[in-house]
Amino acid sequence: MKNLLEEIRRCEVCKAHLPLGANPIISASKDSKIILVSQAPGRLAHLHTKAWDDPSGRRLREWLGVNETTFYDPINFAVLPMGFCYPGKSATGDLPPRSECAPLWHAHVLNQLKKPQLFILIGGYAQKAYLKDATTLTDRVKRMNDYLPNYLPLPHPSPVNHFWMRKNLWFETEKLPAIKRIIQDIL
Ligand code: SF4
Repeated sequence: MKNLLEEIRRCEVCKAHLPLGANPIISASKDSKIILVSQAPGRLAHLHTKAWDDPSGRRLREWLGVNETTFYDPINFAVLPMGFCYPGKSATGDLPPRSECAPLWHAHVLNQLKKPQLFILIGGYAQKAYLKDATTLTDRVKRMNDYLPNYLPLPHPSPVNHFWMRKNLWFETEKLPAIKRIIQDIL
């Protein structure tokens, strides 16, 4: 795993399309218990070379009921976004993850994992790639029990997602307490 992560961190396959250059952000151990598959690092994560080092990360840790020490221990959580580098901005938010990235690298990382217990799929890109079903993010999150024990679909914790949170209050009242219990049981 160490050699593979070093190889990934040197990757520049789609550098020409990355406005701030290549800076692959990934973290994993062969013993990782929970795999966080998300979209792509944000600008702050890129600048600090640290995954989830922003308001989205703070909110995600609240949702999961873990502190920073637990979160950043790769034996607990592997960080495996669909694109490892910051893709840049569009008029409405961050651009999609680079499509070259997950097909190039994910299987190599997954092959190194000894016994992953749960894949947390954050946002539509990760869910579409791993679940390959034709429904909506909201429907998947509502029916999260149907995907357990292997997968847990979540909305993106970005503060810009506040409209979804306000529209789907059941997520906070019904789902978050159950999600915290699932994470505690695994850790
Ligand atoms: S986004 Fe992925 S494929 Fe593109 S340069 Fe970064 S690590 Fe390589």
